[in-house]
Amino acid sequence: MKVTEHIEKANGRTLFSFEIIPPKKGRNIQELYNNIDPLMEFKPPFIDVTTSREEYVYIDKEGLLDRKITRMRPGTVGICAAIKHKYEVDTVPHVLCGGFTKEETEYLLVDCHYLGINNVMALRGDAMKHQKYFEAANGGHLYAKELVSQIQSLNTGKYLHDVVEADYKSDFCIGVAGYPEKHLEAPSLQTDLKRLKEKVDAGADYVVTQMFFDNKRYFDFVEAAKNIGINVPIIPGIKPIAVKRHLQLLPQVFKIDLPEDLIGAVENCSSNKEVRQVGVEWAIKQSKELQEAGVPVLHYYSMGKSDNIKAIASEVF
Ligand code: FAD
Repeated sequence: MKVTEHIEKANGRTLFSFEIIPPKKGRNIQELYNNIDPLMEFKPPFIDVTTSREEYVYIDKEGLLDRKITRMRPGTVGICAAIKHKYEVDTVPHVLCGGFTKEETEYLLVDCHYLGINNVMALRGDAMKHQKYFEAANGGHLYAKELVSQIQSLNTGKYLHDVVEADYKSDFCIGVAGYPEKHLEAPSLQTDLKRLKEKVDAGADYVVTQMFFDNKRYFDFVEAAKNIGINVPIIPGIKPIAVKRHLQLLPQVFKIDLPEDLIGAVENCSSNKEVRQVGVEWAIKQSKELQEAGVPVLHYYSMGKSDNIKAIASEVF
């Protein structure tokens, strides 16, 4: 079932969902299952699986560094299929512009269709570590909007280069990213919102937000989005703070603000165990307020660990 159908069927009730990261290659998938198992009692209608783009690794060969390119966390579509099968839950693979040609994206979407996966999250991805700016793969997309258009074309039965006459049209439900505190490269929040509107106009069915720690940012964002004609569901993304280092790391990586009360509470902690508890309590408060406001889904960034998400969900759902 599509994400948007789950939302309609819930009839105003807030749903629970979460995002997981594929294990590093070489690791057993059981670790992932061990973190999903405790969350299934909250009946997520869908689970997102991220995609990591390729990176350079340097191998020491008799004193000389040999540069190789590799994807450290492959297997997004395989994991989606495995989870769908094991837990009978819908899964949402994240599909990236970065590192993929249009042809590779088409093959990935064909795989999804055969596996019965009909939701995808269309994202640009970030620049590679050595790049200053994002660069498209050879023949790939530069912005998520172009990726949305490709998926939407497939939904009308149009494959790349018009090489086939399709008698089947895919029916992907397409999610895209939104940024309550603006995307870090955008010159202003209003410009970024216009870009978001372009993604929706190109065929996106719903939006999932970047993490935020002050609900007012989300409420203002939803209102501003409505004012420029974005009428699809906007799902809030919630991440519980887990370690003291997040106070610097999250603003640095995502260019988001943390509220003074939260900073103070984390600074007063004498161990990361205490920080984790502060993060859980903050996320419960945020979640309850968002739920009361009638958000369609509360979507949690699990970062591969489920104990704190379970503690939050137990209080909220
Ligand atoms: P876009 O919508 O393409 O926007 C990127 C920037 O370009 C924005 O600043 C926008 O304003 C600007 N822009 C858009 N169109 C134009 C235009 N025509 N001209 C000029 N500027 C333009 N990353 C991963 O690598 N893997 C994941 O699985 C993943 N999952 C994510 C899930 C969510 C919910 C979120 C919020 C983010 C996720 N990301 C993931 C991170 C994401 O890839 C980065 O934030 C990336 O930098 C931007 O992706 P986007 O899809 O928002 O890009």
